[in-house]
Amino acid sequence: MTQGRLTSCIPLPVEHKLLVTVIEKAKDWALMHGVGMRDRKHFTKDAIQIAPFVLLPSPFPQTEFNKAVELQPILNELMHKVAHDDEFLTRTLQNALQVDEFTASLFDIWVKVRDEGMAQTLSLGLFRSDYLMQNPDGNRIKQVEFNTVASSFGALTSYLHDMTRYILRQLGQGDLIKNMPENRALSGLCSGIIEAYDLFGVPSAIILFVVEEISYNICDQRFHEFEISEKRPEIMIYRRTLTEIYEETTLNDKKQLILDGHTVAVVYYRSGYEPAQYPSTREWDARLRVERSTAIKCPSIHYQLAGTKKVQQALAAPGVLEKFMGAGAATGRVRDIFTGLYSLDFDENGERAVDMALADTERFVLKPQREGGGNNLYGSDVREALLRMRHSRERAAYILMERILPPLVSGYVVRPGASVPPPLTDLVSELGIFGVIIGTKDKIYCNRQAGHMLRTKLADANEGGVAAGLGALDSPFLLEM
Ligand code: ADP
Ligand code: MG
Repeated sequence: MTQGRLTSCIPLPVEHKLLVTVIEKAKDWALMHGVGMRDRKHFTKDAIQIAPFVLLPSPFPQTEFNKAVELQPILNELMHKVAHDDEFLTRTLQNALQVDEFTASLFDIWVKVRDEGMAQTLSLGLFRSDYLMQNPDGNRIKQVEFNTVASSFGALTSYLHDMTRYILRQLGQGDLIKNMPENRALSGLCSGIIEAYDLFGVPSAIILFVVEEISYNICDQRFHEFEISEKRPEIMIYRRTLTEIYEETTLNDKKQLILDGHTVAVVYYRSGYEPAQYPSTREWDARLRVERSTAIKCPSIHYQLAGTKKVQQALAAPGVLEKFMGAGAATGRVRDIFTGLYSLDFDENGERAVDMALADTERFVLKPQREGGGNNLYGSDVREALLRMRHSRERAAYILMERILPPLVSGYVVRPGASVPPPLTDLVSELGIFGVIIGTKDKIYCNRQAGHMLRTKLADANEGGVAAGLGALDSPFLLEM
């Protein structure tokens, strides 16, 4: 099928000499304002390099952007309810748990903590709902996934917005800036962390960021620390790996998590979402200790479980949205952003889904219960995996999702180490909308949308993880269509 194309914000290509000049300006702007990452090949803590970015903002239909923004608080609340429905979570995940050790370990912690009585009933969610436009369906947005843990790039894309504005001005196109929606993701996300801190209500308590051993995406994380420090200079933030948390923290008799003599008010996970981040039982012990504590977790373990692909698939099944949201207009609006999602459980429905996928593998994506990119299967890999797993319970760890075919956009992707200027290429964009929610099972204290991010990849790449080096950071240029 040929994919439609959205009109770029200015006529392309840009003349060679001008293009080289603005790319140099853009790179320096990016470096000097922290639109950067650490170098994976030649790692050093003494330098950052530019994060891959798209030079000009990529077109995105205004109505679809607005729709995604408006839906965010509704989706936040939906996920909050899902996370607090013990029976639903248990039933939805039960088959996957038997074959997916990682999700089972998270689930075990949840059950343990719940059974001994939760020391902290408040959860903090810094969510991100991701969308691709379905080109054959009039470029309407379809949800790719809902991230409940370590949703990244709020900081970098907030700054990138300013870089793109600068570049448009350098090209004499400053009047186009009015089509770029304001992006206050960093400030919105950090306000959420601070509100949770205040609800914890213990003076001189600290905030703990759970980080990877090496944080390549350091700018995105540090900007949160700087922003919180700017807004609330008295709050100290610590960064620790799960291994260090195992070694350095204790629970006192009030179940407070103590680090360096301080009570931890908020634990913000920027790690802990994939198996490699738990190299031994010590990291799992650390996770359990944190979950047992009074600290407010971002996300709480039940938020993390609610963000699994299996839950996303279950929500698309008939009657499930109605159960959580009633039968009103909002339910219809949420259903409208879902694309085909199918269970591969070892039963009749699963069998039908396997047959359907084998008949036309190009129409589907096969997804395991993993986060962080690079785990999904496409095309011939779908066939191979389904044939291998057809008679095995292993397949219950996966879901089948209809493949979304986004419209093409043209653009220049600027990457560290690549020659300048880059070729003008066909790209596709994925929109992420950030959301903040704080609440207990019975009371929601805050629920709002908080900025956005756009991530753009080569049109023929299956995935576009920026940290994985496949995608590039971008800003939306809203089109009235
Ligand atoms: P992860 O948790 O690894 O980020 P995602 O569900 O977001 O998993 O998938 C990773 C990437 O794969 C997405 O960012 C998108 O580029 C691509 N992708 C995922 N689902 C689909 C789909 N249904 N159609 C087309 N591309 C998809
Ligand atoms: Mg994703």
